[in-house]
Order: sequence, then C-alpha cells, then structure tokens
Amino acid sequence: MADLYDEAEIRSQWARVRGGLRAEFGEATYRSWFKPLTLKDVRDGRATVSVPTRFICDWVVTNYADRICAMWNGLNDGLRALDVIVEAPNSATAAAKSDDDEVAAVPEMRDDIGGRLDPRFAFPNFIVGKPNEFAHAAARRVAESDAAPFNPLFLYGGVGLGKTHLMHAIAWHIRKRDPRRRVIYLSAEKFMYQFIRALRYKDTMSFKEQFRSVDVLMIDDVQFISGKESTQEEFFHTFNALVDQNRQVVISADKSPSDLDGLEERLRSRLGWGLVADIHPTTYELRLGILQAKSENFSQAIPGKVLEFLAHRITSNVRELEGALNRIVAHATLVGRDISLEMTQEVLHDLLRASDRRVTIEEIQKRVAEHYNIRLSDMHSARRARAVARPRQIAMYLAKQLTTRSLPEIGRKFGGRDHTTVMHAVRKVEELRSTDSGFSEDVELLLRMLES
Ligand code: ADP
Ligand code: MG
Repeated sequence: MADLYDEAEIRSQWARVRGGLRAEFGEATYRSWFKPLTLKDVRDGRATVSVPTRFICDWVVTNYADRICAMWNGLNDGLRALDVIVEAPNSATAAAKSDDDEVAAVPEMRDDIGGRLDPRFAFPNFIVGKPNEFAHAAARRVAESDAAPFNPLFLYGGVGLGKTHLMHAIAWHIRKRDPRRRVIYLSAEKFMYQFIRALRYKDTMSFKEQFRSVDVLMIDDVQFISGKESTQEEFFHTFNALVDQNRQVVISADKSPSDLDGLEERLRSRLGWGLVADIHPTTYELRLGILQAKSENFSQAIPGKVLEFLAHRITSNVRELEGALNRIVAHATLVGRDISLEMTQEVLHDLLRASDRRVTIEEIQKRVAEHYNIRLSDMHSARRARAVARPRQIAMYLAKQLTTRSLPEIGRKFGGRDHTTVMHAVRKVEELRSTDSGFSEDVELLLRMLES
C-alpha cells in the first residue's frame, strides 16, 4: 500500500504511531518515554529513532520497542524492525525539546512532577455497573472528603477496566472543589523515572520535598515497581510520610496487594491497610451501557443492534470496546457509509477473531474435575494417586493449549507447583495422546467443550 520510502508518508505514519502510543499508554507514559523519540531514518524495513539518554533508550528498548514496531507494521507492513539510538542532548532538536520538558517550570506551579490529566476521564463520563460500583463509590468518597476516609485507597483490576479513569476523576473533582489542594497524579513508572533522575543529578532532597508536600498523591500502575528495590524503598518512605500526615494516597495496580509479586513485604502489607477495592471484568450490561454513552458523542447514528453486537463480542475490556467503536465510526466517516452490522463485522474482523472467547484456568479446572468426577480441590492438592494426578495433568495441558499463561503461572494456579511439573504434564499428555486413542479422544472432547 504505502510506499515505504515516501518521506511524507513515513512522517505521517510515525505521527499516527505516536498518537496510538499516547492513546494506548496514556499521557504520563507518553511524555516520559515516547515524546523524547525522534525519527531519524527508515531504511531496508528498519526505522531508527533517537533518544537523548541511555536510560530512556534502555527503557524503550526493553518495554516498548516491540509494541512500537507492531503498531507501525500495522500501518505499513514493509516496516519490520525498530532501532533505538542515543543521541547526545545538544546535537538534536528532539533532545533539546525533551530536556526542556524535564526541567520546564510550567505555569501550573510544581505540578509538572505529576502526569497530565485526561479531561475525558471524569466522574460524569464513568458508567457505573455491578463490576465497578464498589471501586467507584470508594473513589467518590475520597474525592468528596477533606480528610482521608481510608488510606490508602487501593484500586485494582485488569487492564482497561477504568482504574486510570477513576484516579483522574478523583483528581479533577478535588481540584474543582478546592483548587488550593495539591493533587499529584502520576504513573509508578514516572515516579521511578523521576526518582532515578533525582539520584543521577544528586537532587533527592527536592524530589522528596516535592512528593511529601502534596495533599493527595495518586500513583498509577504500581505493579511497575515490583522488583525495583530502591524505587520501592523511596516510595515506601514517601507513602509513610504522607499517610502519617493524614494526606490521601491513592494507588492502583493490576493485582491486589497480596498478589503483587516482587514487592517488599512491609510495603505490601502497608498498601493493604486502607481500603482495597477491585474492579471486576465487565458484564454485558455494563459494556452496553458504556457503548450507549460513548455513541452519543458521535454525530453518526449507531444502530442499537451494532452496540449489542459489540457488547456481546468485545468482552476483554473497556479500552478495546472503545477502540472498536472508534474504528467503525472512523471507517464510516472515511468511506461515507452508514454504520450497519455487516460493516461492523467486516471492519472488525481481525479483532473479533482475536477476542473469540478465551477460557480461564479456573474454567478448565472445573470442567476437567467434573469430567473425571474428582473434587475441584484436587486440582490444587498434593495427592498423587493416578485417579487425580492424571486429570490434573490434563488440566495443565489444556491450560497451556487454551490460555496464554506461562508455565510458572499455570503451576501457581495448580497449588503452587513448579513450572517443571507443568512442563512434565504437558509432555506426558502429548505422549499419551499419540499412543492411546481413547485417551486422545477424551482430551479432544474436553478441548472442544472448552473452546465452544
Ligand atoms: P485501566 O487504567 O484500568 O487500564 P483505563 O482507566 O485507562 O483502564 O480505561 C480504559 C478506557 O476505558 C478509558 O478510555 C476509559 O475512559 C474507559 N473506561 C473504563 N471504564 C469505564 C467506565 N466504567 N465508563 C466509561 N468509560 C470507561
Ligand atoms: Mg491505567
């Protein structure tokens, strides 16, 4: 389609990739890691981008290069690889810009240590349903109280379910109610980035100062600092200092404090001291409600049938749901057609295939236990009798086949078994499938049941 070497086209693709990164990772992450990227060159299917520091380079390469490349490849399949190089701060305009960014004394006083707040992420735009009503109520309480009603408020849930939205909503609400209160929102990633910068520039005093003088501190995606010891240490002290002064702290993560791996014990326990509120996966009703609310923002009419179809089929999370809706509206605008069910299926066919029902390990365990008439608890137990050990192995095998979980993750779900046990189970079942046709049929049946 696009000419790989057409400069204007490449620039426009790069701009779209950046837009995509901003949408996907949010403003804070975008500003820390993607904004400093400058496109240098595209040649032989490889794009080269430069960054001002080795630190950003390493970070981008480890965490984001694949995603950037995949996004770009989606726009231009001739683009297959991404190289990130470091370019000294005074030689490139991008570097100057990013330095600028870091030291900028923006008018909003010292709020530059925080991330930007997305104006769309406010309470009125948050649709409440069973899966999120508790988290929403807790967030509202925090936003409306002068003293910290629970400290910290710990919000957790899977990706794209509204954690960041709720945190921004709290910040907007407090700022509106009392503009004198200092509310800082930032991702744990950015917290870490700033901390490391402060260490490098031997400026930890003012770092501490900044964070410890806020009224409300919100740190998003705290799972990010798992395994990062010195950042955790600093975070722990900041956290304690604030909580001791009765300042509100709000934290989000993808797991509950007790399930967060790689966190120091004292930090983990401290995080669970306040109110822990989880956001559950969406239900059909919530998805439909969200789609109806969002569809009102578009000038095109979107038939109810299309909304229902999307609510049925895009079940992973709200972000994907929104993305799907945006895509069909964009498509309709572009080609000047009305939105219909057929068009929706056509435009989203890749997404629909990918979101075809995914089973969970729990469902697999349940089905297999029922099938072999053993107790569900035997999936986790240490019993080695063949009558329970074999079905357990089959369940592990199915978990490997039908989910994207890693061997250690699967092992954990089976009573904390080692990944080598899972590997052994997978091999054993494979071997039996090839030698025993009765066994193979049984497994085949389970596979089909779980896939339907
Ligand atoms: P998370 O931080 O949990 O990964 P986000 O807060 O970024 O998820 O939400 C992803 C997208 O879905 C955002 O655009 C957000 O506005 C939207 N969203 C999530 N939950 C809701 C909801 N209950 N009502 C309206 N929009 C929602
Ligand atoms: Mg988020």
